[in-house]
Amino acid sequence: MARLVMKFGGTSVADIDRIRNVAHHVKREVDAGHHVAVVVSAMSGKTNELVAWCKAAAPRHDAREYDAVVASGEQVTAGLLAMTLESMGIPARSWLGWQLPIITSDAHASARILDVNADELVKGFKERGEVAVIAGFQGIHKETGRITTLGRGGSDTSAVAIAAAMQAERCDIYTDVDGVYTTDPRVVPKARRMEKIAFEEMLELASLGAKVLQVRSVELGMVHNVRIFVRSSFEAPDSIDPHGTPPGTLICDEAEIMEQQVVTGIAFSKDEAQVSLRRVQDKPGVAAAIFGPLADGNINVDMIVQNVSADGATTDLTFTVPSADYDRARDILTKVKGTVGYDRIDGATDVTKVSVIGIGMRSHAGVAAQAFKALAERGINIRAITTSEIKFSLLIDSAFTELAVRTLHSLYGLDKA
Ligand code: ADP
Ligand code: ASP
Ligand code: MG
Repeated sequence: MARLVMKFGGTSVADIDRIRNVAHHVKREVDAGHHVAVVVSAMSGKTNELVAWCKAAAPRHDAREYDAVVASGEQVTAGLLAMTLESMGIPARSWLGWQLPIITSDAHASARILDVNADELVKGFKERGEVAVIAGFQGIHKETGRITTLGRGGSDTSAVAIAAAMQAERCDIYTDVDGVYTTDPRVVPKARRMEKIAFEEMLELASLGAKVLQVRSVELGMVHNVRIFVRSSFEAPDSIDPHGTPPGTLICDEAEIMEQQVVTGIAFSKDEAQVSLRRVQDKPGVAAAIFGPLADGNINVDMIVQNVSADGATTDLTFTVPSADYDRARDILTKVKGTVGYDRIDGATDVTKVSVIGIGMRSHAGVAAQAFKALAERGINIRAITTSEIKFSLLIDSAFTELAVRTLHSLYGLDKA
């Protein structure tokens, strides 16, 4: 019998009615003869509440205790869904990460899955015809025996890892939109749903801000060749033909996609901050003196722009860091002011990184140049630019985010008819 993973995000399990709706989606697949493992998130808003409680209890808390707290939201929904299924006459039981186990690294709050033991799940399917309901987002570090979590949005990654471990035919990600769109459909009403998208492009979209899938889940899907299908939990469970193709987006190999556009999608992220060092000494070793201490502080530097020195002696250097690390980055740079040698630090947190993604850029020149022109015509200033093989990113003022995304969406012919 074919094995299926069904993952339901926060809005899909937001209350008891929504959980009952999920149970009906599961029942449909069980009745169609599938062996089903369900992965659930916490009820929407729950994880935010738990995170806030940790901050209120102790602003500088131990990450191991943070994980013990925030992993609890998924325990509740796993139990509730299992008992709902049982009450409908479907054999089911809940599983927490440590019970399988799902083994992770010890990077608490952003742990990586190292191994998933699916033996008990498969035994449950074969011996008892039992649906496994697994708490997403969590695992255990083997050596310390402590509970870990996978970073925000991590239930997607739990689902794909479990699908790989039990060799599932497909991993269905049920969410509050019916697939992956050319950009966030809540920001651009003209965004179009894609039938298919290549792993590589989805990886870029996710890592540049489209939170519909956690980046790590796409990486795992690519490595283990898991077919990931993003679809809506809001469609009436009984109106769907389990053997048909419902609306949704398949994340798959590039080779499976017949028609390839130059630009496939646009992502944006407001979690960026800009740091500019003015009148930095223009001499060898300066970049190392600046970026070395930031790396030591575990701060990820993204876009970097160095101006040509006007006086031959000093230059301006601009780069971006995650906005959560902005204050820390400034502190570190202030400490090394003497060794680096610069005049002053300027910075801004009201900036957005807008990124344009498409495998077709490999073979098309001038794609970015079109964007510069279109944004200039709308009076949008570009603060920094980075490019790579299949994407480019622009840093702009946050106030212009929607205008910029909509402009680029139309420019590259992505608007739906
Ligand atoms: P879940 O709780 O089900 O995991 P998320 O909120 O994490 O759901 O992800 C779904 C959301 O991702 C959508 O509501 C949508 O606003 C947002 N999103 C951002 N970019 C995209 C995109 N390109 N396609 C679809 N959804 C997107
Ligand atoms: N509940 C976790 C979060 O809100 C994990 C998830 O939803 O995927 O980040
Ligand atoms: Mg999510």
